[in-house]
Order: sequence, then structure tokens, then C-alpha cells
Amino acid sequence: MAKTGIFGGTFNPPHLGHRNIAEGFVAHCSLDRMLIIPAAIPPHKAAPDLASAEDRLHMCEKTFADGRFTIDPIELNRQGKSYTVDTLRQLKQRYGENDEFYFLMGDDMLLYLDKWYEPREILRLATVVSAVRSSRVSLEDLCSYAERTFPEEYRNGRFQFYEIPPVDVSSTEVRRRVRSGESLEGLVAPEVAQYIADRGLYHGST
Ligand code: ATP
Repeated sequence: MAKTGIFGGTFNPPHLGHRNIAEGFVAHCSLDRMLIIPAAIPPHKAAPDLASAEDRLHMCEKTFADGRFTIDPIELNRQGKSYTVDTLRQLKQRYGENDEFYFLMGDDMLLYLDKWYEPREILRLATVVSAVRSSRVSLEDLCSYAERTFPEEYRNGRFQFYEIPPVDVSSTEVRRRVRSGESLEGLVAPEVAQYIADRGLYHGST
């Protein structure tokens, strides 16, 4: 039975914090394959500094460059808004019911799982795995949120947690640095810094 890891994000741009949690995830869950899924953003929701789907895809390829990761445009290829639950269903059709799914979420995101579309169905289709940066949210807070909000799923082991050394970077900070002409060293892969410069991404306002 193969284990598939799934990591979705806006990746605008992908950075070394993303790579850090993805690497911890592969190790923690002993994954056989790991899919990186850039989100499609509907045009009416797109911020002015959102890079195109194509640019975000290329930057993901440069960030998650080694053979353990597969960049999957499944949401970009679908028309309109994508719900995680639909992506998981489509992936189940691709890999078969026996494949075990592990869905990675940042600790800050996990605390909003009940606001997602069909969270219980997400938890039926995949084990939700959260990388804990203790600088942000404690493991106790995450466990008590999961236990309180999804008691049955929590009891059945549909949540897993692993701790990671925090890498203090966000896409927002990367875009801010580009606008103010600061170096991106240590925040993104060197190839991504080069790509941003070559394509003139994120130089505008906001
Ligand atoms: P933005 O700053 O634009 O909000 P972001 O840096 O949070 O973006 P996303 O693409 O929205 O990036 O994040 C995808 C996932 O990665 C989320 O689950 C988020 O919690 C997680 N994540 C983002 N930055 C880090 C980091 N430095 N360390 C660990 N997890 C992170």
C-alpha cells in the first residue's frame, strides 16, 4: 500500500520554509511519493502581486527540485475554484482507494480546518498532518483544537503532528524584500531568487 503526501499552497513564491516542512513531512510519514500542488486563485480573488500560475509552477520546480517531489498542476488545470476535497477525490481516482493519503497543513492553517469546505470528508480521505513550529502554536493547543472540533476523527488517529525547527520566512516577507530591493538569500532557493529577478516579479506596489 503506497503512501502519498499532498502539500498545497499558493506558493507566491515558494520559499525555504515550505521546503523545510515538506522535507520533515516526507521523513515523518515515510512517504512513497509527495505531491506539491500550487493553488488556482480565481481572478476576482487574485491580489495584484500574485504571480501567474505558470511562474508559480516554475518556482515550485526550482524549490522542490529533487526526485522525491512531484509538482502537480491538478488544481491549476481545473477550471475555477478548487476545493481540497475535490482534489483528494480526483487523486483517489488516479491512485486507487488503497493508496493512503497524508495531507500536510501548516500549524496556523490547521486551526481553521473547521472553516474549510467539507472538513470531515477531507479527514475521511486523508490523514491530516501538521508541522508544528513551536514558536507559533504549541502542540498542546493544536491537539486540543483537533480533539475538541473533530473528536471522532481525533480518536481514530486522523491527525498527526511532527515538530520542525522553525524557518522564519513567509511569501509576504519575500515579496516585501523584492519591492525594497533587499537580498533574498536564505529565504528562497538561489534559482528562485534568480527567476524572480529575471522575470521582474513582485516589483510593483502592494
Ligand atoms: P503568505 O505570506 O503569502 O500568506 P505563506 O508563506 O504562508 O504565504 P502559503 O503558500 O500560503 O505561504 O503556505 C502554504 C503552507 O505552508 C501553509 O500551510 C502554511 O502554514 C505553510 N507555511 C508557510 N510558511 C511556512 C514556514 N516558514 N514554516 C512552516 N510552514 C510554513
